[in-house]
Amino acid sequence: MTDSQPPICDYEGSNYQTSFWDQGGRAYEDRAEAIALQRLLPKGGELLLELGAGAGRNTPRYTGFKQVVLLDYSLTQLQQALLRLGRDQHYLYVAADIYKLPFVDGLFDAATMIRTLHHMAEPQVALEQVHRTLQPGAVFILEYANKQNLKAILRYLIKQQAWSPFTRESIEFEKLNFDFHPKAVRGWLKETGFTLQQQLAVSYFRIGLLKRSLPINLLTRLEAWIQLTGNWMQLSPSVFTRSQVIGNTSKAQAGAFFKCPVCEAYSLKQQGGKIICPECSREWPIRDGIFDFRIGAY
Ligand SMILES: [Zn+2]
Repeated sequence: MTDSQPPICDYEGSNYQTSFWDQGGRAYEDRAEAIALQRLLPKGGELLLELGAGAGRNTPRYTGFKQVVLLDYSLTQLQQALLRLGRDQHYLYVAADIYKLPFVDGLFDAATMIRTLHHMAEPQVALEQVHRTLQPGAVFILEYANKQNLKAILRYLIKQQAWSPFTRESIEFEKLNFDFHPKAVRGWLKETGFTLQQQLAVSYFRIGLLKRSLPINLLTRLEAWIQLTGNWMQLSPSVFTRSQVIGNTSKAQAGAFFKCPVCEAYSLKQQGGKIICPECSREWPIRDGIFDFRIGAY
């Protein structure tokens, strides 16, 4: 663990959902993720933590779970998710820093983290936090951006790119946007206490020319087939992994849920429109149905 706070990639005020997904010609990528999730998600469960939920694009896909906690650092992304999904007791909206998750240990029986690890300057610290909040045997679905992808390999071989796609170090291609090597991610998962069960190679056909010239249904069929090669070879721009929590963790006590992200007290109390920590006296507001545990954000 590092003492200093890692920087956070904040989508506050961003129109990411509209510009990137709704109008960005990314129907293929969205379908590719739907197929991967369907393959990797457990059939059902109690409580799923969606890390980096954004505007809730993937949330309706977690149908087997009784409750889903949508977590994002950006309040405005969560407001968009709330508009999309509604005030349903099925969903809980939490704005918080992934490096300081405001949940008690052993709370969730599943977690997903899609298009989120690639914003982490300290990915292993983030994974340790996720592991802490999971019950023994819980399933963790992690997606990451793969530096060892076909385009990067080709560019490297024809000397259009200086960095090697074959080495383990991360590549920051834009500020707080990282591509990782599959070996590095597998190493972090293992060291953190996860057992890797399955890997899917996702979005091989994320190429403008292919997306424009081939019908989406054909692309989707090819995608469904080629994803399965991911257990043996990961040369796709995106990789989905399914892991399980192993080791001596314990399940949270009934009724325990939030923990103070500053002093780590478990005894938080809800009072009117806020959550109060009796240990350090900090108050965490609930803003229009969104629990706000961001430290120093207001
Ligand atoms: Zn506290």
